[in-house]
Amino acid sequence: MSVDIDILREKINRANYEYYVLDNPSMSDFEYDTLFSELKKLEAENPSLITPDSPTQRVGGLSEKFAEHKHKYRLYSLDNTYNEEELIKWHERVTKECGSEQELVCELKIDGLAMALTYENGLFVRGVTRGDGIVGEDITNNLKTVKAIPLRLFEPVSIDVRGEVYMPKESFERLNEENAQKGEKIFANPRNAASGSIRQLDSTITAKRDLSFFTYTLIVEGESNIKTHWDSLQYLKKLGFKVNPNIRLVKNIQGAIEYCKEWENKRFDLGYATDGVVIKVNSISCQHEMGYTARAPKWATAFKFPPEEITTTLKDIEWGVGKTGAVTPVAILEPVLLAGSTVSRASLHNLDEIKRLDVRIGDKVLIKKAAEIIPKVIKVVDDENHYKLPVYEMKMLCPDCGAPLETKEGEVNLYCSNPDCRSIVLSRLEYWVSKEAMDIDFVGPSLIEQLYDNKMVLTPADFYKLTRQDLMQLDLIKEKSADNIYTSIENSKLRPLARFITALSIRHVGKETADILVNELSTLEKIRTASIEELAAIEGIGEKIANTIWEFFHKDANIKLIDELLSLGVKPQEGGQKISNKLEGKTFVLTGTLSTMTRDEAGEKIKLMGGKVSSSVSKKTSFVVAGENPGSKYEKAQNLGVIILTEQEFLEMIGG
Ligand code: NAD
Repeated sequence: MSVDIDILREKINRANYEYYVLDNPSMSDFEYDTLFSELKKLEAENPSLITPDSPTQRVGGLSEKFAEHKHKYRLYSLDNTYNEEELIKWHERVTKECGSEQELVCELKIDGLAMALTYENGLFVRGVTRGDGIVGEDITNNLKTVKAIPLRLFEPVSIDVRGEVYMPKESFERLNEENAQKGEKIFANPRNAASGSIRQLDSTITAKRDLSFFTYTLIVEGESNIKTHWDSLQYLKKLGFKVNPNIRLVKNIQGAIEYCKEWENKRFDLGYATDGVVIKVNSISCQHEMGYTARAPKWATAFKFPPEEITTTLKDIEWGVGKTGAVTPVAILEPVLLAGSTVSRASLHNLDEIKRLDVRIGDKVLIKKAAEIIPKVIKVVDDENHYKLPVYEMKMLCPDCGAPLETKEGEVNLYCSNPDCRSIVLSRLEYWVSKEAMDIDFVGPSLIEQLYDNKMVLTPADFYKLTRQDLMQLDLIKEKSADNIYTSIENSKLRPLARFITALSIRHVGKETADILVNELSTLEKIRTASIEELAAIEGIGEKIANTIWEFFHKDANIKLIDELLSLGVKPQEGGQKISNKLEGKTFVLTGTLSTMTRDEAGEKIKLMGGKVSSSVSKKTSFVVAGENPGSKYEKAQNLGVIILTEQEFLEMIGG
């Protein structure tokens, strides 16, 4: 028994070191939590085996980069659970110890790092990491670069607060992309990235990392007017702190369970990572009465969401050909349950990424599913078996047509060199009819395959040559469906120009860039004939994309295709779409869920009134329209002082 416990402790201590000190965990949080609760159980059954240095008796870990600071008020961790029954049991203990059923405050558990901030006479004087809960690292200068931490409060009070420094998902993805390109460290999750960023010795690096901060605790001591945690959060807001907008006061544990269920899915729409819900007793006197264990408060608990990361085995790497000819790898995995669904495939991005990860068939890999993004392989789990496996070698041939693969300057992707490759042609045709592009109903992948194999449709122009009779020659197509397909194709002839440009599958030109092009240049003719310099001068295009656009419109096959489409009656709708100039010169960013329309519809309305829609917030943004559960764009707008409109205000602005 004692040997088992020792091994378990050693594993957990090693994981703690990798997680807290190196910011480089080798196991998923779920695996860690499972080992941890196993250790807790063993210790509860055999109290004589508890050692003072057991991970169950302490919090976190300390690195030695910064000056140490002893906390005035100790910082604790949180007990956690992955199931409802344990929440109910916890609440029974609360009711028993406090003498009556208690109101609870539900908060999202922000996946970042706890910080202790001290204000004197309204001024920020010190910021310290949690460390081991007793002593932390003084990182005041770095925290001063985080814009969501007020340097001066609205009232000259002397207080201590706690909160979480975190990295928004968008910034995390961007940092990892940039680091991948530079061959630097890839962070496993936003928490590790935030940790690595906030503990930089050079605070100018921290300043560039776009960190943010939610404040969630005000230390209330002795006699105070503030009697509840809920009131303390309202007071923090009044002082100028950023408090998470999704906090909720509930009457009982059922209310808290509903909140947990609600956020289990809604969390994916947030612009920051949350790994659970923290449930806290509202009454501060009851909190004081319940007190703490060696590691955590008894008056709070964390409900953790099902894991978003897990380890599994890489069975194979499959290569697919996309509409631009890019040949990209997909990891074929031993199926595992991850965040509510079974995952058997994950993204591996490109050959460089395979080399960077040194991933080999047979490896144990850590995979992650974040938001609605396809799961991806984060890293190879360090084990001896890895070195016995052969290094992955790729055949530099197209997996479909066998043509040699080529690279393009400044890009990491590999491309099939054969423009007539079946996979490329089929995926271009599929994209042409897709909702995002020409939106042609009743034409799906299997029909496209039939049309292609019968040599009836080889280019998008061929769709517009089809007659009802042609269609009726195909398998399972009767008069009614032939009619539907034909009408649908006919209707697509008058789609807006931006959709037409999107449908052409120009490399690097998606819906957003197509919108930019149409906003700036208005007509197909002007877009086709613009010089590289003119294109590159458009905000949001840049030199690389300008080159690919210009090349596309100057290739013989593409010139022929566009001319043919026009001669067959395809007439992309230019200008004419605008119905007023009311929003001329204004740039909008849309975030969150709107109740009266989709974000796309709101975007169309803005464009109809001469305004522009952008996907990211900058100083140049005129308005951010925020619906329910807005993402990180909301915070960015707050930080930059951009005007935020509610849906109602937006509707009033556009005239209902
Ligand atoms: P924790 O992250 O589970 O919970 C406590 C922390 O929650 C607090 O310190 C605070 O930072 C944070 N928090 C976020 N929002 C909060 C809110 N609204 N109110 C209060 N606190 C809030 O505990 P921990 O001690 O920081 O870390 C332990 C956890 O870290 C483990 O359960 C595991 O998931 C993970 N971990 C993983 C590994 C690994 O190898 N993968 C290793 C060590 C720890």
